[in-house]
Amino acid sequence: MTTMTDTPTRPTPPNVSIVIPIYNEQENLPDLVAKVGEALLPTGRSFELICVDDGSRDRSAWVLRDLAAKTPWLKPRYLMRNYGQTAALQAGFDAATGKYVATLDGDLQNDPADIPALLDRLDNDASVDMISGWRKDRQDKAVSRKLPSMIANRLISKVTGVTLHDYGCALKVYRGEIIRRIRLYGELHRFIPILAAEAGARITEVPVRHHARTRGVSKYGIDRTFRVILDLLLMRFMMRYLHRPLHAFGGVGLWLLVPGLAALAWLLGVKLFGHDIGGRPLLLAGVMLSLMGVNLIGLGVLGEVLIRVYHEPEGRDQYRLREAPEGDV
Ligand code: UDP
Ligand code: MG
Repeated sequence: MTTMTDTPTRPTPPNVSIVIPIYNEQENLPDLVAKVGEALLPTGRSFELICVDDGSRDRSAWVLRDLAAKTPWLKPRYLMRNYGQTAALQAGFDAATGKYVATLDGDLQNDPADIPALLDRLDNDASVDMISGWRKDRQDKAVSRKLPSMIANRLISKVTGVTLHDYGCALKVYRGEIIRRIRLYGELHRFIPILAAEAGARITEVPVRHHARTRGVSKYGIDRTFRVILDLLLMRFMMRYLHRPLHAFGGVGLWLLVPGLAALAWLLGVKLFGHDIGGRPLLLAGVMLSLMGVNLIGLGVLGEVLIRVYHEPEGRDQYRLREAPEGDV
C-alpha cells in the first residue's frame, strides 16, 4: 500500500491509525492487540495501533510497553495521569498520521474484526467521510445503560439535528482530515459526530457487533447520564453562542442601546425646544440603558477575542505525556 519512499525523519503515513484509550485494561490488552492484528494484517493495509494509556492505576502501561517491544505496529503513548477518555482520544489523534483514523474501546466490547469492512466502505464510497458504529444488539445492562443511552440519543438528535441511533458507540472510522480538523476538549468525545458534522463531514451509520465486557470493569456509572444531559444543554448553548459571543452579548446590548439612545434623543429634542428636562426618570433610564448597551457590546467583542484564544490548541495543557514505564510488569 505504501508508495512513497521511507525517510528516517518522516515515515510514510500508514493507511489507517487505530486509536484506543486505555484506562485500567491490563487483562484486556494482550487480546486486544492480538485481535487488532488478526483483523488488519490479512487486509494488506498498512496500519498503526495507538493505545493511549490514560494514567491507568493498574499495570496497563507496563503491559503495553512489553507488547510494543514485540509488535512493530503498536505505538503506545502514556499520559501523565488520568485525564479522561476525551483527552486520551485527543492524545491519540495528535499522534495519528493515517489516511484513515479508526477508534474503539479497549475492553473488547467493540470487535476489531468490524474495522476492515468500515474502511472498505470509506475506500469505495466517496460520499462518506465518517462512519459511526451502531450497536444494534448492545450487550450492556438495560436499565442503567441502554435506557439512558436511548433517551440521550433521541435528545442529541433533536437538539443538534445530527441524527444517529447510537452516538455512544466508540467504534468509528474517519477520513484523516476530519480528525485533524476537530479538537476535543472537556467531555466532548461523546459529541464527535456533531463536531465532525460542523467540520463538514458527511456521516453514515453501520451496524456493528457488540460484546459484553468479560474482563475489567466499566469506568462509568449512572451519574454519567446526568452529565451527558448537562453537557448536551451546554452544547446547545455553545453551538448557538460560544462561537459567536458577539451575538449573545451584542444582541442584548443593542436591544438596550436602541431605546436608551431614543430616550436621550427625545429628551435632547425637548431641551432644544426650550423646556427644562430636570432630573426626569427618562433621562436616567436613557443614560443607563445606553451605557449598559455599550458595555455589553464591548463584552461581546472581548468574548470573540477570548474564544479564539481559548480554542488555540497551542499552549493549552490538555494532557501531558510521560516516558514508557520502567521495571517489570
Ligand atoms: N477510558 C479512558 N479513560 C477514562 C475512562 C475510560 O481512557 O478515564 C477508556 C476505557 O479504558 C475504555 C473506554 O475508555 O477503553 C471506554 O470506557 P468503558 O469501557 O469503561 O466505558 P463503557 O463501555 O462502560 O461505556
Ligand atoms: Mg466498555
